[in-house]
Amino acid sequence: MMDSHTPILIAGPCSAESRDQVLTTAEGLVSSSIDYFRAGIWKPRTQPGAFEGVGSTGLPWLTEVKSSFGLKVCTEVANARHVEEALKAEIDLLWVGARTTTNPFQVQEIADSLKGVEVPVAIKNPTHPDLALWLGAFERMDLAGISNLMAIHRGFAVHGQKKYRNAPLWQIPIDFRNRLPQIPLLNDPSHICGKRELLSEVSQMAMDLAFDGLMVETHPAPDEAWTDAAQQLTPQAFAELISGMVMRSSGAEIEADDLFSMRAEINMVDEALIELFARRMGLSEKIGHYKKAHGLTILQNTRWNELLKRNQDLGLEQGIDPGFTSDVFKSIHQASIAIQKRIMQEGAENEEATPKGT
Ligand code: PEP
Ligand code: MN
Repeated sequence: MMDSHTPILIAGPCSAESRDQVLTTAEGLVSSSIDYFRAGIWKPRTQPGAFEGVGSTGLPWLTEVKSSFGLKVCTEVANARHVEEALKAEIDLLWVGARTTTNPFQVQEIADSLKGVEVPVAIKNPTHPDLALWLGAFERMDLAGISNLMAIHRGFAVHGQKKYRNAPLWQIPIDFRNRLPQIPLLNDPSHICGKRELLSEVSQMAMDLAFDGLMVETHPAPDEAWTDAAQQLTPQAFAELISGMVMRSSGAEIEADDLFSMRAEINMVDEALIELFARRMGLSEKIGHYKKAHGLTILQNTRWNELLKRNQDLGLEQGIDPGFTSDVFKSIHQASIAIQKRIMQEGAENEEATPKGT
């Protein structure tokens, strides 16, 4: 890692599975100087019947990580009972998971159960893109007198999202930071990516946007993990991820930093555009099949003129030059026609290949 600005690092398995797995992972992470070792003890699962965590049985394993390796430890809590048990086991940091942040009753219950306790608490963003709900969770903690807080950006469940397990929607954590600049903001690339191949790109983006740290899932044998197998890294791969990152933040380079942030934001918007183009072309493909099945022509001029006018008007409302809108949509239209032509031709070729009269 280059430079002065050291990120806060949290690493460890998605779930604690056995004493041996927890201790082996922790041992592998010692040399990476992590700030907290993580392991989920109580796991919120989408389907019933899936592995829901080892429960309180796993707490002594975390205590052992503290005594054997001198690491601080953290786990997810979702209700007052979890808080009580985690505090009894002297867990050093508690985190509120994304599903829990979506539910104000649960957040309030956790806040109430933490009154008068000094433990640091990290709050993940809610599963859906709702900044107010995320901020609301911080307000509930604040009102309960909990002052040692951190935020974790773990991406958002967005319909139609393909590349990521949870869309990063970087603008939301950026807005979060503008609202609560004093709260350290970490990125959780594991739950954003869903697959380990993307981790380095997302972690670097977080660093370029001046996030304060990372939470990364690690496991001694990732492919055999009981939860989130595809996104976990070995402790060795985690060390490589961290050493491969370029750290750009430092007080003296603030202007360069702003430039990096702006470029990172441009990259993020471009990525969103590409996703939208892909969706748009997917629709052209679908409509091409429909037109073919119903014997309709590809080019329907009235529809094209309406579409162009509608988009120019929409653009104009946002200060976009109608000439620019026209250029962009002409290109999109051309590409869409090419797709539909291909579909019509595929049909014709198939017909030719079919022997007539059978
Ligand atoms: C986790 O950290 O393992 C987890 C369940 O994350 P999230 O709440 O972000 O889904
Ligand atoms: Mn996980």
